[in-house]
Amino acid sequence: MLFLERLRRNCLAQGAKTAVEFRGDGPARRISYAALWRQSAAAADWLAAQGARPGDRVAICLPKGPAAIMLHLAACRMGAVSMPLNPACPAAELLYLLSDSGARVLVATRRYLGQAGDGSLASASPARIAALDADTPAWLSPSAAASLGGRKPSFLNKVKINDKLPALMLYTSGTTGAPKGALMSHGSLTANMDMLGEAWQWSPDDVLLHVLPIFHVHGLLVALHGALHAGASAVLRQSFDAATALRDLRAKDCTVFMAVPTMYRRLLAALGSGQLDLRHMRLLTSGSDRLPPEDFEAIEARLGCRVVERYGMTETGIMLSNPVDGARVAGQVGIPLPGVEMRIVGQGSGTPCGHGEVGELQTRGAHVFLGYWNDAGKTGRSFTDDGWFRTGDLGLRDSRGHFEIKGRAKDLIITGGFNVYPAEVERVLARHAGVSQCAVAGVPDQDWGEAVTAFIVRAGQPASAEELIRHCRSALAAYKAPKRVVFVDALPRNALGKVQKKRLVADLSEARCGQASD
Ligand code: AMP
Repeated sequence: MLFLERLRRNCLAQGAKTAVEFRGDGPARRISYAALWRQSAAAADWLAAQGARPGDRVAICLPKGPAAIMLHLAACRMGAVSMPLNPACPAAELLYLLSDSGARVLVATRRYLGQAGDGSLASASPARIAALDADTPAWLSPSAAASLGGRKPSFLNKVKINDKLPALMLYTSGTTGAPKGALMSHGSLTANMDMLGEAWQWSPDDVLLHVLPIFHVHGLLVALHGALHAGASAVLRQSFDAATALRDLRAKDCTVFMAVPTMYRRLLAALGSGQLDLRHMRLLTSGSDRLPPEDFEAIEARLGCRVVERYGMTETGIMLSNPVDGARVAGQVGIPLPGVEMRIVGQGSGTPCGHGEVGELQTRGAHVFLGYWNDAGKTGRSFTDDGWFRTGDLGLRDSRGHFEIKGRAKDLIITGGFNVYPAEVERVLARHAGVSQCAVAGVPDQDWGEAVTAFIVRAGQPASAEELIRHCRSALAAYKAPKRVVFVDALPRNALGKVQKKRLVADLSEARCGQASD
């Protein structure tokens, strides 16, 4: 059953139940399942009045809130393609995304448009701009939605949704190049929800604490769609704030929490030396980035929960997850979700790897996206002749069939002919008391081809570059130890907290980083 049909049935069956609850400074704002269905129909009506039609890309550049969610559902329901964007996106990037996608309509707040230079954006934007005053457009008020009297906007009656139809376009986070539009069909959204519903045992009794952005696959699909698909409730915070999240978790009214590793680290830091017993929670998940084993263990020691680490990406949704029942292993991302085919092949050779051998992860199944928008060449190169999607990630499968991620193939460092996986070096550096955060990357080098370079944010107990290199040499083969250590004030991160290594390397070559020493 398609996700939208499942959502419709949830809305009919449990109309009065809270679908989403927005918590902020004022009183909480609850939207029931019945209201969600009505208001998203009204939002579709409004979108049509702005010129959006089935098949169009609809860019939604709004803060996380009721309007953004209703418009996203509205676009999907009317057979258009929902295109949620980061509401903090600079105007120049927004213009690139609008022209690349050929979006018909851009919905943004007046405030954003004002900051982005209203006039210049309007003249340069290929999309028609639909401005929202605040987060309370008329179609969001309960009375306006009710005045539709249950009547569906006429075009919603005519639209036939099928599994092949494009539903969503998310721009990849662009840590390794220009953002690319990944187009997902209603079928792949549905497959993702069915697989996760089963693997994570979602139930209508669940209450999700939602702190992730909703312009990314993690917050939008895995978290929000996950809750709506299950007929569960989601408590949303506009953004992640560690102290607020701790307060929400202490209230003990949520059963599921999803976060990226950076958020877990901030939660633990905000907890100081204290503990927080979260054993009442059914599920804590981590993804979008590697959860180092020491963080996994710290969470267990201080929150009382073994996090379920999972692995996925914009183009595929979630592919691998540790089991909810069964051993959740630190540093591993578990096994394929039901219906997901996974294999690991030698880079270059394309032949299947044996247990413990590192190669590229490839996947096949209904969860995989349709392709990159307007880029048949890149889409073609991303699939093998027999239909496997090349993730571009390196990993291995152990003899029990459990997977471990080694990092992006593009991040692999080849130094003096040897392969170095940055994650392995980062793991060793993170154990040193002088290191608060670190990232390891290959920097072009005449002698080595690439020189293993560590970018370090210092911790309270400062360590010299020589000491950190010695520390790595005591735990790793000499060729894996950094040739160079660069101290920085902070690591550049994208909206999901992922380190942007390309930027670090570029900044270094422009000699913009702080003090560096060999
Ligand atoms: P995105 O498309 O922004 O969700 O980024 C997807 C990428 O994040 C993947 O291709 C991986 O490189 C990385 N990623 C996601 N989950 C994990 C994980 N559990 N461990 C390591 N890397 C991960």
